[in-house]
Amino acid sequence: MTDPLFDSPEEEIHFDLFNVKNVSVFIKRDDMIHPFISGNKWRKLKYNLIEAQFIEKKHLVTFGGPYSNHLLATACAAAKFGFKSTGIVRGEPVENQTLMICKLFGMKLQFVKRTDYRDKQLIFNSRFADDADAYFINEGGSGNDAIKGCSELISELKQTYDHIVCACGTGTTVAGLLQGIQLAQTYTMVHAISVLKNAAEIEIGLEKFTKNLCQVRLHSEYNFGGYAKTNFQLLSFIKDFAVSTGILLDPVYTGKMMFGLFDLIEKDYFLQGSKILAIHTGGLMGLLGMSKEFNAMDN
Ligand SMILES: *Cc1c(COP(=O)(O)O)cnc(C)c1O
Repeated sequence: MTDPLFDSPEEEIHFDLFNVKNVSVFIKRDDMIHPFISGNKWRKLKYNLIEAQFIEKKHLVTFGGPYSNHLLATACAAAKFGFKSTGIVRGEPVENQTLMICKLFGMKLQFVKRTDYRDKQLIFNSRFADDADAYFINEGGSGNDAIKGCSELISELKQTYDHIVCACGTGTTVAGLLQGIQLAQTYTMVHAISVLKNAAEIEIGLEKFTKNLCQVRLHSEYNFGGYAKTNFQLLSFIKDFAVSTGILLDPVYTGKMMFGLFDLIEKDYFLQGSKILAIHTGGLMGLLGMSKEFNAMDN
């Protein structure tokens, strides 16, 4: 881990809407950190990997759904930093592009029924009791280590922003950003765009991890019906955005985040002159599972 991945760039994007509303919008390109150890998944893994290396564990065991960006990031990071890896996948055995690439990086896959999947520590204890090298990494990395990794994004920033906008699944990344802001002691406001119908849970989760809730706003009106749910409006937004900027977004996380940001700007949510940073949390391999949806748009 003495071989850090690089700080991702911040770049400004330009749309007529931003001129009309007199706001400037930048993107923190965490999608460029690495093609597979991407975005917030790298930040969330980092201190787990350092810990595993420190206590001389050689085998990473972690968990995820069949399209998990976290499994993919762990598979690649394991290969890059000299670990073996096992991915415990939720549900019946399947094949898809994400899992194919996980296997290319040498990850062994074990499928676990949804009902059994819930207790991850139990799965780990029963299946890897004999493996002294095995190191448990929770889905998405463990709480405090993951938050610490995500908080470091703030210290990389080249300027101070009035607002930071970020996609929010479990809320770990947002909790990390808040922690970073608290350390930096800026007035920045964090906007969490919830991609699931779990706003209440996130609120409880954030309370657990941060003390400055007055610097966060949760936006739950951009989940498009729930996790991985999409519609034509979202897909065509993603397509137009890609055409105008050369930047890809995925329909599960960053597409909803950016759609929400545009809508908030449209509705004059931000003061004139605001400087806004959108976090590109990466995870673009998720697009591979969406080829049917995007191809259907051409008809
Ligand atoms: C996992 C993921 C998220 C959600 O992160 P949380 O810390 O769970 O809120 C956001 N964006 C992308 C691209 C992801 O892969």
